[in-house]
Amino acid sequence: MSLQALIDTAALKHNFETLRARAPQSRVMAVVKANAYGHGVATVVKALAMADGFAVARLEEAITLDDLSLTSKPILLLEGVADRSALREALERGFELAIHQVEQLQWLSELAAEKSWPQPLTLWLKFDSGMNRLGFRSAEAAKIETQVLRLQARWATTQGASHGASITCRLMSHFACADEPERSENTDAEQQFAQVYAHWQDVFGPTEASFCNSAALLSRPQSQFAWVRPGISLYGISPFAEQSAKSLGLRPVMTLEAKVIALRSLAAGETVGYGATWRATRSSRVAILSGGYADGLPRHLPSGAPVWVAGHRASIVGRISMDMLAVDVTDIAEVALGSPAVFWGQHLPAEEVATAAGTIAYELLCALNARVPIKVI
Ligand SMILES: *Cc1c(COP(=O)(O)O)cnc(C)c1O
Repeated sequence: MSLQALIDTAALKHNFETLRARAPQSRVMAVVKANAYGHGVATVVKALAMADGFAVARLEEAITLDDLSLTSKPILLLEGVADRSALREALERGFELAIHQVEQLQWLSELAAEKSWPQPLTLWLKFDSGMNRLGFRSAEAAKIETQVLRLQARWATTQGASHGASITCRLMSHFACADEPERSENTDAEQQFAQVYAHWQDVFGPTEASFCNSAALLSRPQSQFAWVRPGISLYGISPFAEQSAKSLGLRPVMTLEAKVIALRSLAAGETVGYGATWRATRSSRVAILSGGYADGLPRHLPSGAPVWVAGHRASIVGRISMDMLAVDVTDIAEVALGSPAVFWGQHLPAEEVATAAGTIAYELLCALNARVPIKVI
């Protein structure tokens, strides 16, 4: 195999347990959106049988997961539903829903009379705490409480209270700056959410909540609440620029592994690749690796970006092609045809490669192309 992504399920389980130990009072909703951050949702959900639930972004992802019949744990739609027909499908399948705008409450109220839906229904009322992406504003809390009370009553009546019809409500929010723990926006967000949560509990009684992604789980134990929602850290990536995954006790799950498919010698002055952007300043040896932007490597990885070849770190040289790239191996004598190489994972953290590409490891992992074979180890 000239290029493949190895998925280390032992590392995945280890990361899960490491995170669980950091949030011992909370249940863990494993975030598996975007095909489990490129790792393959079936593989990840199977390996994480101990998770208390799974979260995806959209209905289509939830349906894919549901159809795999790999788990009986709750599946949460982090974006909720976008229209009535999506809501019907979500209700039919018993998905848990983030509710972040009043229309979603209205649709629920309308559909309550339509037929008898699987029960019970779990809603996650999402409050904005400063990100200004999804969620009700704190100032709307009283209005939302009234609407939810009305919906609960209607649901019980139309769906048949005697048949156990009920709506469980939970609260959620999401930090905008949790990956930078010192930012004052984080404490502002906590204060906003604390107010909403306190008021909500005055009206509804004890209520479960969820606030933490990976970065917040690891840096803000005071905000862990009943449920945490780690994504990137499960896959062994540090959510913090200043802290390595290793220092957090996390192990990389994906290793993108390639092979040297050609070697050539260059005289000083010769160039490599499209646009002839890299020129040898000495007589050089260059290895060609199978792996390019059609596999998910960022085309804007610059010359000098790191790669691991045959036990050593080396530098990418020249432009990334669609299927290949070049590496300067002048100083690594043992590199031969067929030598192993790693773009990220074992031996080379994806975080470092992402930094070289001016992005974050999230994007590298999610961008893995479907043509790359996945091997579960
Ligand atoms: C993606 C996502 C998460 C997981 O975030 P990570 O930074 O990957 O841990 C949690 N909550 C919400 C709402 C998300 O969209």
